[in-house]
Amino acid sequence: MIDGGCFCGAVRFRIEGALKGAQACHCSRCRKAFSGASSAYAEIADGSEFRWITGENELCTYTSAQGWGLAFCRTCGSTLCGIFDGKVHGVTLGTVDGDPGVQIEMHTFVGSRAPWDHIGGGRSSV
Ligand SMILES: [Zn+2]
Ligand SMILES: [Zn+2]
Repeated sequence: MIDGGCFCGAVRFRIEGALKGAQACHCSRCRKAFSGASSAYAEIADGSEFRWITGENELCTYTSAQGWGLAFCRTCGSTLCGIFDGKVHGVTLGTVDGDPGVQIEMHTFVGSRAPWDHIGGGRSSV
């Protein structure tokens, strides 16, 4: 079971099952959509079930011309999930509580990354 929610706590979700295909996409659209260096996103694994626990009516959605969408909390702005064909397709890893059971497998559109995006490099602090 994987639980998650938004920054302000109004919206909570639960996945009975697992995630798969964790990716970080560094394209310019994902930077805007995820407000960061990249997306950090994983799909709901086949046979797993996603549901909103609380706050579903607090969600706002954005749908692109290509048909995919994002749902975010209207109060705090956390982007919670990706929507495809009207269904939740996956979740943003940053909104998952604890260990989502997957790690980023692939960085995509690295050639389009922001000038300030230094993947895996630079100094870190604990
Ligand atoms: Zn919120
Ligand atoms: Zn992207």
